Amino acid sequence: MSLRLRLTMLYSLFMGGILLVFGVVVFILINVILLNQVDTMLASVVHDITKVTRVNAVGELNIISLPPLDMASNAYVQVWGQDGKLVTSSASIAALTTSLDEYALKSGETMYRDSWLEAAHLRVLTVPLKMGAHKIGALQVGTSLAVVDASQRTLISVMMIVAIIAVLISGIGSWVLLGRAFSPLEVITYAVDRVNHADDLSRRVPYAGRRNNEIGNLVESINQTLERLESLFTSQQRFLADVSHELRTPLTVIKGNVDLMRRMKEADEESLTSIDQEAGRLSRLVGGLLMLAQAESGKLTLNFNPVELDLLLTEVFTEMQVLAKNKVTIHLNDIDQVMVKGDRDRLKQVLLNLVSNAIQYTPQGGDVFLGLAKIGEQARLTIRDTGAGIPAEDLPHIFDRFYRAEKSRTRSSFSGFGLGLSIAQWIVEHHGGQLKVESKEGKGSTFAIWLALLPEP
Ligand code: ADP
Repeated sequence: MSLRLRLTMLYSLFMGGILLVFGVVVFILINVILLNQVDTMLASVVHDITKVTRVNAVGELNIISLPPLDMASNAYVQVWGQDGKLVTSSASIAALTTSLDEYALKSGETMYRDSWLEAAHLRVLTVPLKMGAHKIGALQVGTSLAVVDASQRTLISVMMIVAIIAVLISGIGSWVLLGRAFSPLEVITYAVDRVNHADDLSRRVPYAGRRNNEIGNLVESINQTLERLESLFTSQQRFLADVSHELRTPLTVIKGNVDLMRRMKEADEESLTSIDQEAGRLSRLVGGLLMLAQAESGKLTLNFNPVELDLLLTEVFTEMQVLAKNKVTIHLNDIDQVMVKGDRDRLKQVLLNLVSNAIQYTPQGGDVFLGLAKIGEQARLTIRDTGAGIPAEDLPHIFDRFYRAEKSRTRSSFSGFGLGLSIAQWIVEHHGGQLKVESKEGKGSTFAIWLALLPEP
């Protein structure tokens, strides 16, 4: 059963229930009011009769005649003696010898009761007649309830017709309104189905309605999910293409050199060096990929300990002298004593990567400046070079995996794969810090690592 049908039935049932309760309350109330009127009328007749009731010398009832009654045509009166004999009765029931209400007459109490006389429905008031404490008879006044019964029947019919119409209207109304409310959901289902069938994540769910309601929010969430899926899917495809591309080049070089040596039937030193270099590149690529995979699956854990950044930077400075050789001069100036909480090996990996990039992208005779300063509650490590700089259009992408600025794409055996900066950024961000870059083409680049200082004990 559809949700629309189920809700429609629920609303109609609810409406029917409310009308039923309302109808019962109205019915009871009107019944009470009508009976009250009848009872008041009966009481006033009783009052009129008791006023003219006489008693003879031996204490027996002695009524000459009944008074003319206002409701005489509608009220039936019987006066019973203490011996159980009918003393007198109104003209309209002169032929009736049985009591209007046998039970009440026997009980001798004052009471209002409904009673049936053949097919007639009556309301009867029975009142004992007394002289002082002495009971001398009973008076019974009754009236037909035909009008009251007819009113009740009419009321029930009217209420039932109104209830049926109201339930029908509410059912039809709910069906139409729910149809309108649910129609965007059908559009969404259709659109998502088409995304699945066409395998096309670039499609979006169309929605022309209001944005700030439940449906608008749902559509927006679905579209955001599709957007994210699309970007993940595209980056996965690009990643596969990049990895295949990076693997192919060294493998081609290795295979070419092996083929050459086979043809020459001797191990050529130059070919062996080339194979060695390419195998080294391959193992660096696989190492980088492994690290990224671990980082993304959350398996790369960082061991946080207090780290003296000034000592770490000095260590990196010393180690990098070998790589810089006579090509560039590395300067270590302006270093403050700084403690942070971090994974020493990973932070060193970041620094080595940034410094080796600076050396690599700075031409012969250039300079690389390393610095460390306390700024407010933060430590700032800087690696500045006087190299080629990064073109403005490349700058936003250099932290992407496999991204290499256009100029450095002319591959040399030293060039990397464009993985170093994305790994460095992951490490810095997982230290709660930031890795920033400023660069001007032709002037040089400055990479800055911002980390929170370890609070002094
Ligand atoms: P790679 O292994 O290619 O160096 P990275 O992720 O470390 O990969 O760097 C990405 C790209 O950013 C590099 O290919 C290069 O174009 C650019 N780059 C990084 N550091 C510098 C720098 N100090 N000067 C100029 N360009 C740089």
